[in-house]
Amino acid sequence: MTLNVLGWAAPAAKAPMAPWSFERRDPRPDDVVIDIDYCGVCHSDLHNVQNDWGRSTYPMIPGHEIIGRVSAVGSQVTKFAVGDRVGVGCMVDSCFACDPCEDGEEQYCPHCVYTYGHTDPKDGRVTYGGYSEKIVVTERFVLKAPETIDPASVAPLLCAGITTWSPLRHWNVGPGSKVAIVGLGGLGHMGLKLAKALGADVTLFSRSPGKEADARRLGADRVVISTDAGQMAAVVDTFDLIIDTVPYVHDVNPYIPTLTTDGTLVLVGYLGPLEPALDTAPMVFRRKAVAGSLIGGIRDTQEMLDFCGEHGIGADVEVIRMQDIDAAFERLKKADVKYRFVIDMATLRA
Ligand code: NAP
Ligand code: ZN
Repeated sequence: MTLNVLGWAAPAAKAPMAPWSFERRDPRPDDVVIDIDYCGVCHSDLHNVQNDWGRSTYPMIPGHEIIGRVSAVGSQVTKFAVGDRVGVGCMVDSCFACDPCEDGEEQYCPHCVYTYGHTDPKDGRVTYGGYSEKIVVTERFVLKAPETIDPASVAPLLCAGITTWSPLRHWNVGPGSKVAIVGLGGLGHMGLKLAKALGADVTLFSRSPGKEADARRLGADRVVISTDAGQMAAVVDTFDLIIDTVPYVHDVNPYIPTLTTDGTLVLVGYLGPLEPALDTAPMVFRRKAVAGSLIGGIRDTQEMLDFCGEHGIGADVEVIRMQDIDAAFERLKKADVKYRFVIDMATLRA
């Protein structure tokens, strides 16, 4: 049974998105077939569509914040049944033999298969993402999604949620922690919500004074305008953890003095050499660290979804029609989204 599926693809770098029909693989015995209801629009989709990272292949069907319902299961599937509300994030397979896989950190597996634009070594086929009607995924990479939260608001948890949850948990954030988030977009707004729900004192660094009221509603105790030297000076030696979600090259140096001794700034947004160069002196003299972090493992993703279910946490979303995806990408470039676009897949054939 090969599945013919309609999706929306980038035909080439910087070309408008357009409908495109393709085949999903024949479901394997451990596969779950999912009818997709909503898919979030991550800034990584925009980077990939534009080939910002130089490794895109086309046609590309983006989308790794997928929420849907199970429509079929293979004979060996034990965790899911037809009708279950499920999610799929940025990964669809890994080797299950390496140290990261054994530690539940499949995102660091050298053979991790990304949800789109990647070749699946099991069959040599390119993966296609969630801007489509259906997806076929091994049950090991399918998540149980909370039924109590609007599914459109759950979709962004599969990337924006876990990408901020993972460093918050890795660096043991809880009551008494002082956390700052840089940039109020999709990742940033989830970072505020999750850090607050974990009991931390939370600050937003933003370039955008107009986002202050929203930031406070989303969980920020304090908003610091990062271009205001006086406001930056007022928070020197404050934060145990800073999660920097800025997508483009930017000066990280002004944030380092705001870390406490032993504090860590985690880069999750920008990929590439930093400009201007990082001054190591403030790091050396106060044992401060600059780190990176990639999404999060499947166990942690399930933990985060369960936590969000218990605490009633979903993303703040702007639900869009599939046909409006290019306009959404344009707004994302201007940091103009409140705070995640989510595509309603019911509009795919409209
Ligand atoms: P987004 O919704 O576009 O938000 C990014 C925010 O960063 C903007 O709202 C803006 O906030 C700030 N910003 C944008 N351009 C800036 C600039 N030139 N200088 C300073 N601040 C700027 O993006 P997103 O979906 O949250 O994704 C953020 C980044 O994380 C992307 O690069 C994405 O590829 C990456 N990502 C990484 C992972 C991972 O696993 N590491 C996972 C998902 C996404 P203000 O207006 O408040 O300044
Ligand atoms: Zn993403």
